[in-house]
Amino acid sequence: MLREFTRNERIAYFSMEIALHNDIPTYSGGLGVLSGDTIRSAADLEMPMVAVTLVSRSGYFHQSVDDQGRQSENPDPWSPEKYARTLPAKVAVPIEGRNVWVSGWLYVLEGHMGCRQPVLLLDTDLDENTEEDRRITHFLYGGDTSYRLKQEIVLGVGGVRLLHALDFNVRQYHLNEGHSALLSLELLRRHAYPADDLRPGESPYDIPAVRELCNFTTHTPVEAGQDKFPYDLVHRLLDDFIDDKTLKNLAGQDQLNMTRLAMNMSDYVNGVAKRHAEVSRKMFPGYRVRAITNGVHPHTWASIPFRKLYDEHLPGWCHEPEQLVRSDCCIPGQEIWQAHVEAKAELISFVEESCSITLDAALPILGFARRMTAYKRPDLLFQDMARLREIAERRPFQIVLAGKAHPRDEPGKELIRQLYEHRQQLADIIPIVFLPGYDMNIALKLVSGSDVWLNTPLKPFEASGTSGMKAAFNGVPNLSVLDGWWIEGCIEGVTGWAIGDSCDNDADSCDIVNSSDADSLYRKLDEVVLPLYHEDRDGWISVMQGAISKNASIFNSHHMMRRYAADAYIR
Ligand SMILES: *Cc1c(COP(=O)(O)O)cnc(C)c1O
Repeated sequence: MLREFTRNERIAYFSMEIALHNDIPTYSGGLGVLSGDTIRSAADLEMPMVAVTLVSRSGYFHQSVDDQGRQSENPDPWSPEKYARTLPAKVAVPIEGRNVWVSGWLYVLEGHMGCRQPVLLLDTDLDENTEEDRRITHFLYGGDTSYRLKQEIVLGVGGVRLLHALDFNVRQYHLNEGHSALLSLELLRRHAYPADDLRPGESPYDIPAVRELCNFTTHTPVEAGQDKFPYDLVHRLLDDFIDDKTLKNLAGQDQLNMTRLAMNMSDYVNGVAKRHAEVSRKMFPGYRVRAITNGVHPHTWASIPFRKLYDEHLPGWCHEPEQLVRSDCCIPGQEIWQAHVEAKAELISFVEESCSITLDAALPILGFARRMTAYKRPDLLFQDMARLREIAERRPFQIVLAGKAHPRDEPGKELIRQLYEHRQQLADIIPIVFLPGYDMNIALKLVSGSDVWLNTPLKPFEASGTSGMKAAFNGVPNLSVLDGWWIEGCIEGVTGWAIGDSCDNDADSCDIVNSSDADSLYRKLDEVVLPLYHEDRDGWISVMQGAISKNASIFNSHHMMRRYAADAYIR
């Protein structure tokens, strides 16, 4: 069953999460959706890849939110046997001195042009394993540090071993984020010098040979976000998998830092936007960190009315989204508006079904949906409630929100509670909706049915951000802080609008930064965005056209994958 995939050389793409399909909950947010879009684009472009991830049988979590805004979490199980076939191989990885057996599932991702890409979903839920070990691949980002390290051993070490056992012919490895960095240790063991060739003090491994095989994409612009493991835990779980001196030289002296290990073991390292690459260079002085800005998958993230519109006026856009650069001249503004009206009606009826609130199609909808966590600042819009009221009194608008907080992110959960409180306080003037269970389906409805896509992260924490790119595919302009991709995508008044400037926040205190960003947001809304929407429809439509022609034509995952191919995979 694997012959069609093992005949030719492939790029092995390792990621802790991959969003394969809306009904397969093997992802938590942006990182997983990006991985999914990567493989979807590889399928459209016929680039030979094989993706490796965990099966996450119990999913990330199912979110419910009560009327006070309190989030509760439940397992979100799925049945791999409904979507995938069992793999005809099994490998052992050493954990805590015993063998943990790893097998898994073959999911075949089929591009809408017919090309197929194999995705291996690693699974330890096998009869051979103890009860505890069977759970290693159950919960995405669940459990404690030890659970996480076991997952990363299965992903990195188990993944490489399984690829070999299945006879895959891997020409390059791509580590999407540091979670899979242990794969480099398995590769070192496969590139060890014979013991009697060694001179004293010399490394027993051919490190340069492994570096040539590895590419690393970092996604975390903060130290605190990097996966780190204390060495006593590493030794307990991995024993002497690799000698201590080599490991500490590669992964850090005090703790095993997965980002550092991946940086040291990869000849090609990149950040996910130009600014993010700069920030990463500052964090890791002396390393060469290139930039390949993220993108989103064209067919997946264009709503049905926009797919039809592009098919009619720019056939072939799905394979060559660069063609969208002509959309501002080739597609009549009225037809873009009409497609948007349809997408907006779809969102409005979805909101009605899910929470019995009827939004007004004639009034603008501000959309905001992403992981609920402190640096994303979903509360920035509500900093000054009196001022927000005044703005809405002058020119009315509505707000739709969504997002999950990680079960252990208490400040993130508190933000959801606050949003519910603000909704109460503004009930007489601004209709506000919170849609629970943010997933790919809701994301598409929101990014296509809103009129303005709002993003208010604290700089420089938004490495790239991708939901704004999805909005652009649907002619929805961004109103966003200048961080991540928006520094590259924003042309003021042409593709959307900036909140604040693109300078570093370094010196200022958080409170000062928050109130100056909020001030800028209110001014833009009050003086530019809402007047344009309410009083100059043609002017508004030309910003929609700018978003499609100047953002969607560039910030798509085909463009991104052609860069990975040209810059990273072929070198
Ligand atoms: C696109 C997407 C994200 C990422 O959005 P950001 O703007 O990068 O935060 C998260 N979750 C889902 C379900 C998405 O579709």
